[in-house]
Amino acid sequence: MKIISFPQVAQHDHQLHEGESLKKAARDRLTRQGEQWTGMRAAVFDALASFDKPASAYDVAEAFSRNQDRRVAANSVYRILDLFVGANLARRVESANAYMANRHPECLHDCIFLICDSCGQTVHIDDDALSKDIRKAAANAGFSAPRPLIEVRGTCGECDRALSES
Ligand SMILES: [Zn+2]
Ligand SMILES: [Zn+2]
Ligand SMILES: [Zn+2]
Repeated sequence: MKIISFPQVAQHDHQLHEGESLKKAARDRLTRQGEQWTGMRAAVFDALASFDKPASAYDVAEAFSRNQDRRVAANSVYRILDLFVGANLARRVESANAYMANRHPECLHDCIFLICDSCGQTVHIDDDALSKDIRKAAANAGFSAPRPLIEVRGTCGECDRALSES
């Protein structure tokens, strides 16, 4: 599997894709990597992109079965998710042990995930200045962190409001 290296992380305002535009960006990216956008891969991507929280290979397999009216083994889904991560179409959310579709498949960032402990909803933000600072702090400690992992656990706005109203 090809893994992208991140020597330099882009600093720009980029587009965050949704729906059809996300599917097209994902397909373009994967085919540029020399991989085929098969019907199976497209359906797995659709299933993954339908979640607003990190999804496991099992969650994606279930969503796939519901959409496609046929079953797929979680193992096959897992292999495809692995390919997606390598091609920047998906990101692993380590603290949730699960995956999210990457809404900017054409550019590389140290994606930051804000994960709600109460409902699981996960927000994806990019702040290259922040991740650069982390890389610099690591370097000052004699540590090389080419890809810092930044995941923040807390409470989303909706859950926060619900809690304060109750
Ligand atoms: Zn970008
Ligand atoms: Zn990102
Ligand atoms: Zn929440």
